Amino acid sequence: MMSNIPFFDYASLYPAHKDEYSEAIENVLSRGAFIMQSELFEFEDKLSNYLDVKHAIGVADGTTALLLSLRASEIQAYDEVIVPSHTFAACASTITQIGAVPILCDCCEDHLIDPESVEKLINGKTKAIMPVHLNGRTANMDKILELAHSKKLLIIEDACQALGSSFKNTFAGKFGLAGAFSFYPSKTLGCFGDGGAIITNDDEIARKIKLFRDHGRNEEGDIEVWGNNARLDNLQAAVLLIRLKYYDEEIMHRRLLANRYEERLGNIEALKLPPAPDSSKDHYDIFQNYEIEAKNRDALKKFLSEKKVGTILPWGGYCLHNFNKLNLTGHYDYTEKMRKELLLLPLNSSIAIEEIDLVCDYVECFYNL
Ligand SMILES: *Cc1c(COP(=O)(O)O)cnc(C)c1O
Repeated sequence: MMSNIPFFDYASLYPAHKDEYSEAIENVLSRGAFIMQSELFEFEDKLSNYLDVKHAIGVADGTTALLLSLRASEIQAYDEVIVPSHTFAACASTITQIGAVPILCDCCEDHLIDPESVEKLINGKTKAIMPVHLNGRTANMDKILELAHSKKLLIIEDACQALGSSFKNTFAGKFGLAGAFSFYPSKTLGCFGDGGAIITNDDEIARKIKLFRDHGRNEEGDIEVWGNNARLDNLQAAVLLIRLKYYDEEIMHRRLLANRYEERLGNIEALKLPPAPDSSKDHYDIFQNYEIEAKNRDALKKFLSEKKVGTILPWGGYCLHNFNKLNLTGHYDYTEKMRKELLLLPLNSSIAIEEIDLVCDYVECFYNL
């Protein structure tokens, strides 16, 4: 069998439910229902039901979701916000966009925010913590919540990779003041362009975010604050309504594939795999990504690429503290050690279990097993 397993096959998204998408798009286009129309509000309703949260607000993308969440909070210019170094640039950039200062912390063995590292960085200027629930796993929030309560810090969550993932039966995005989600096409709930959402149980935060996303205008058309254009397209909302219907299937398939990786690669000493789907009763992981640590990573990546198996280095191989021109400071020993071995293996709904087996055959072959 000759493999051709791209890391993510964008062209597979539309055919998956082509008739339903075509019908929904046709419907929106023929009504001329482009901006702030019924599909947007219906999607917000369905999303808030799915996550059992009071408000879900559609916005332009995940980065905007972070920015508006930060803006709506009480974080002021020069306040410090602690965020893991192993994350996307958008986390730190949005903190700087409100005039605050990102302080980088280390991560734990599961690659998520390390509360001990956070604790060491807290000082009089610290105002908030931004946990990032990477790869579809919710961070262990016990200690983070404890720190936030005892030091009176806000929590704004980056849940862009973790829709439906939970820790101790609480969904990612519901631990703090607000949680941000992305619907970038390769996300577990991806649309056909850019999209994002914010969830919150706080009425006042929700009200502010709705103002910010639409030029500061309230329902009467009165401009109360300086806002922006940060709306989620109605056409994308129509697509998301369809994708949300199949979301549980999507996650089940991903967990099935993750289980197979675990069965096949779990005993290879040169690898450190993410926690397996049912390895902890506290975590429900949705496997946005399958992020491993691999000895001799660059050679493994090259070997797999020759076999036409697509893999990716997270953030192109760099954590935030590696971008020297950004001058970010903090503590990140584990992050720096692990980042040279990080590799994302293919895992998504367009990949069959037989293809995972093939990837595993190649990995075994690479390590001479
Ligand atoms: C995708 C992502 C974002 C940004 O989302 P966009 O929709 O691309 O703006 C932010 N943080 C993390 C961790 C992400 O994975």
